[in-house]
Amino acid sequence: MTDRKQHSPKQQQAETSFRTFSRQADAPRPDEKIIPTAIVERQGRIYTLQDREGLQHRIDESLITDNGLHIDARSGALLVPESLVRAWFEPVRRERQRQEEQRLWDLFAESVPLFWRHGERILTDPQLFAARTPMRITMAYGSMKDSGPYPLGVVVRAWSEYEENYTRVCPKCGGQMLIHSFSGSPLSGRSSHSATCTACGNQQRHVDEGSFGRLAAPITHIASQYRDLPQDNTMSLEQAIEKIHSGDINQANK
Ligand SMILES: [Zn+2]
Repeated sequence: MTDRKQHSPKQQQAETSFRTFSRQADAPRPDEKIIPTAIVERQGRIYTLQDREGLQHRIDESLITDNGLHIDARSGALLVPESLVRAWFEPVRRERQRQEEQRLWDLFAESVPLFWRHGERILTDPQLFAARTPMRITMAYGSMKDSGPYPLGVVVRAWSEYEENYTRVCPKCGGQMLIHSFSGSPLSGRSSHSATCTACGNQQRHVDEGSFGRLAAPITHIASQYRDLPQDNTMSLEQAIEKIHSGDINQANK
């Protein structure tokens, strides 16, 4: 997901509302399950609905009348057919997921210098080695084996064992930048990558440079040796960062 352009959420929402309305109007399904959906706010004709997961979606009153929906007098909830609930809340859920992924990517990108400094520890601590990262190879067409997401140890091994492939010179300070994300096409060999400077923290995103194979080959080769790494109870990126920091404090207290 790293090197992909995004639609604006506003635009997406508008398109979805329109589609929802026309599809519902064309194809009523009177037999389907009805889900009481809480109305948490009403301002004029605008209703804010909330599903069971706490996701919120705003609709205009016309969607209620056009779909022939009713409000349950006792609970005050709007009674909505299941398919309509899905059409309203699925885009909200996807947008929340996209934001969460973006947050992880930002955290991963800014933590590159930390991971590089503590590379030795990550390689020798099985918990840190297996920690989850968002790093995976995004391809223009198709998919390939061992394209991630990669455990932290695999990323650090790629950086340290194939430095010439995953390193570039920082245009800001002349320090060493490490590539932490890339995408491309195995067919054309073109690729685009993002990197963070281990010296000054400078981040570069979506640099169109370098060959796809040169970036993809080493890390997929390393990852192929860890296919059996346990998937349960693996540390999250946040937990790994916390563990590295707490190690720093223990070191300082000694
Ligand atoms: Zn720099």
